[in-house]
This record gives sequence, structure tokens and C-alpha cells, in this order.
Amino acid sequence: MRVPARLAQGEDLEAITRDAVLTRGLGRAYGDAALPPRPGARVAGSRLADRVLALDEARAVLRAEAGISLLRLHQLLLPRRLLVPVVPGTAFVTLGGMVAADVHGKNHHLAGSFGDHVRALRMRLASGEVREVRAPEQEDLLRATIGGMGLTGHILEVEIDLARIPSPWLIEEREVFPDLESLLAGLLADGARWPYTVAWADALARGAALGRGVVSRARFAEPPEAPEGVPARGRHTSVPLDLPWLPRFGVALHNRLRLAATHSGRRTVSPYASFHPLDAAGNWNRLYGRHGFTQHQCVIPREAGTEPVHELFRVLARTGASSYLVVIKDFGREGRGLLSFPRPGITVCLDLPLADPRTRPAVEALDEVVIAAGGRIYLAKDQLTGPAPFRRLEPRLEAFLAARRRFDPERRLSSALAVRLFGDPA
Ligand SMILES: Cc1cc2nc3c(=O)[nH]c(=O)nc-3n(C[C@H](O)[C@H](O)[C@H](O)COP(=O)(O)OP(=O)(O)OC[C@H]3O[C@@H](n4cnc5c(N)ncnc54)[C@H](O)[C@@H]3O)c2cc1C
Repeated sequence: MRVPARLAQGEDLEAITRDAVLTRGLGRAYGDAALPPRPGARVAGSRLADRVLALDEARAVLRAEAGISLLRLHQLLLPRRLLVPVVPGTAFVTLGGMVAADVHGKNHHLAGSFGDHVRALRMRLASGEVREVRAPEQEDLLRATIGGMGLTGHILEVEIDLARIPSPWLIEEREVFPDLESLLAGLLADGARWPYTVAWADALARGAALGRGVVSRARFAEPPEAPEGVPARGRHTSVPLDLPWLPRFGVALHNRLRLAATHSGRRTVSPYASFHPLDAAGNWNRLYGRHGFTQHQCVIPREAGTEPVHELFRVLARTGASSYLVVIKDFGREGRGLLSFPRPGITVCLDLPLADPRTRPAVEALDEVVIAAGGRIYLAKDQLTGPAPFRRLEPRLEAFLAARRRFDPERRLSSALAVRLFGDPA
């Protein structure tokens, strides 16, 4: 998806956000969240505003400009036995982007989402005013901004609590499960003992094997278990060209081989490999061809049980849509933001190629399953859901829009996502 914008880049984020309709980080949101509402609208690009402003190692508190990347933070913090407490599946995201999407990681069941660790923000509001935003005094603006997808103000600086780690290495184990129900049970059981858990499921398997997969669990190594030194990002390759849309049978075969090759033994891995495996292959999205892909990510509430998760897989089988990569995580507490995605339950991410005509009807059917289960979809990934289903998915929408009206009464801030879902003028 491309919408031409006037992207203002610069080290002085306070200056370049003046008159901008939106701030964009590293553009890792899958859909239209970081795109302008209309061609030619001025967007501030934060990536050059990347200074660390304060690091208090004794208190484990960091303050930095919003454009700093998670990769740079890892490089700064891991040697100090400190960690950004919640990290998403790629390190090519900015601090501001992590706040705006209220991102989650493999430790959501224990640590919650990114916003739970935010102490303060420095923001440029829609009125132009630049303000320090700190709880509890301004918890209402914080709650609207965390998960607010950039629509309540430009985040200039972020102050967060860091996590302490015993070493910069992880101990990881994997276990294969023959079907979806045992995979989900394995994931939830591991969550009671392991801080980092995730499942990968095979949505192209047939019959009882549909949804079979691998649970991966990890924890930071204690000093006697850890190798010498600090892990480096390691070698990475790049997909040099857009590949034709992958044939279904090729991926089904790949899935079968992947399951057969999974070793259940314990291994020591770097945080880069464990938390951000896709970062090892630059431009991996080109594997989906010129049109790219969308991701349907939902959370099925704990009280709805596992049946709706089975139904998501059955929808894929029924519609013939091919989801090549299915990732499942265990969610803990409700997010702090008015529109935060996480809530207690099971989150399922389905990658779907946009070139496939079956993808759009599949997304519509998947949304219906989520609505019936009382669940949510993730705005940082979505690009195909329409305003009517979104309203049914989000009973919290009116509260968010009311907060947005309060902090931006003239609706100066907007995005392509706000045009699609919230009725903003294009
Ligand atoms: C391979 C991959 C794996 C991922 N894995 C996960 C995962 O495990 N968990 C998860 O939660 N997410 C995941 N994501 C999504 C990603 O973490 C979010 O989309 C994140 O917001 C991207 O950060 P960014 O800096 O690239 O922001 P962008 O994509 O540039 O922007 C995203 C949103 O944040 C807003 N924004 C960005 N910077 C600012 C700012 N300074 N002030 C105000 N608003 C701002 C934008 O306006 C936009 O609405 C993944 C994405 C990829 C590509």
C-alpha cells in the first residue's frame, strides 16, 4: 500500500512535528497506521531523532528520543544486563512506535504490554503545545496515547522502566504437538513456568493434524549457564527481489519439514535470534510477491475457551485462504491504553497474501469469529477490516474517539487508518 506523503525527516523531532498530521517511526506497522490520511499530507519521520537522553542504571530507567530503534537499545542495554521489558518480533521499530501500538512480546502473560512500563512521555499535542505527560496527573492522556496509533499527539521522548536480566543470553527449548488442542494446552502450561513462550502452527495440515505445531519457551540464562561475551546481531541475508506468490504445496511441504526437523533439546540463543528471528532475512516480505501480505491478528478472550481458535483455522480451510505463517501467543492482563490490543486470552496471527483473491473474504469471516467470541483485532497489523465490523469489534471505540476529540478538537492529526476506520476526511 502506498500513499504519497511529504515526509519530513530530521534530528529535531520537536521542530518537524510542527504542522505534521502524523508521526511515522520505522514503518513496521503492517497496514495503514503510519500512512497519511491523504496524498501530500505532511508526516514527520522520527528515525533521526534517536538520542539516549538519560540512562539510570541503578534505578533501571531509560529516557530517549522517540525515534531510537529497539536494535540500538539492545546494543546499549544488553552489555549492562538490562533489557527493554517488552519487545515485539522485530527490532526495527522505534520507541514511539512501540508506545503508539502498545506492542506486546512473548512475555505478555507475565509482563503485560509496552505501555505498562512507560513512566512518562514528552509530547507535541495537536494544539502545538509541547508537554511532559506523566502519571498519575495525566493518566488520561497517557491512556489515550498508549495504543492510540499516533492520533492523540506526536511522541517526542519516552521514559520507561527497564528489566534486569541475569545474562544477555537465553536458554530456549522447543516441543512438537500433533494437533491444535494439544498445542494450545502446551503453550498455556509453559506460560506457568517460562517467561517467554510462543507457538507456531501449521494451518495447511489436513484433518486432525490441522493446527499442529511447535511451542518454543525461553528464559534468560543464569551466569554459570551463559557463554562469555555479549551476543551480536549476527549474520543476516536479504531477499533480493519480489518472488512470485509462493505455491501452497511448497509451503505445506516446508511446514512438514520444519516440524520433522524441530529438535526438542535445550539450546543457548541470543535475544536477536530468539525475539526477532525474521530480522535475519532482510526484505523477507518480498517472499509474498509484489503485492505483499496482510496479517490478521486477533485475541480470543480467555472466557471464550479454545473453540473460537479452532474456528479460525476452520475458516482458513473453508475459504481456501493460505496462511503460511501462524503464530500464537498467550496474553496476560488487559492493556493500559483506551485502545490497547491485549487482553487476557489467546492471540493468533495469520499472514495472508494480498495477491490471493480469497484473502479479503477470509478476513471478513475471521472478523466474524472474533466478534462472536468477544475478541479484538490488532490495529498495527490490520488493513482490510471495514468500519462496520470494527465498530462491532470495539465496544471501547466511543471512549477513545471522545478522548481524541478532547485532545484534538479540530482533528488536526489523522492517518489512512483513521480515514478507513474512524470516518476521518480523506
Ligand atoms: C516482523 C514484524 C514482527 C512484529 N511483531 C510484533 C509483535 O510481536 N508484537 C507487536 O505488538 N507488534 C509486532 N509488530 C508490529 C510493530 O511492533 C508495530 O507496528 C510498531 O508500532 C512498529 O513501530 P514503528 O516504529 O515501525 O512504527 P510505525 O510503523 O512507523 O508506526 C506505527 C504507529 O505508531 C505511530 N507512531 C510511530 N512513532 C510515533 C511517534 N513518535 N509519535 C506518535 N505516534 C507514533 C504511527 O503514527 C503509527 O500509527 C511486528 C511487525 C513486524 C514487521
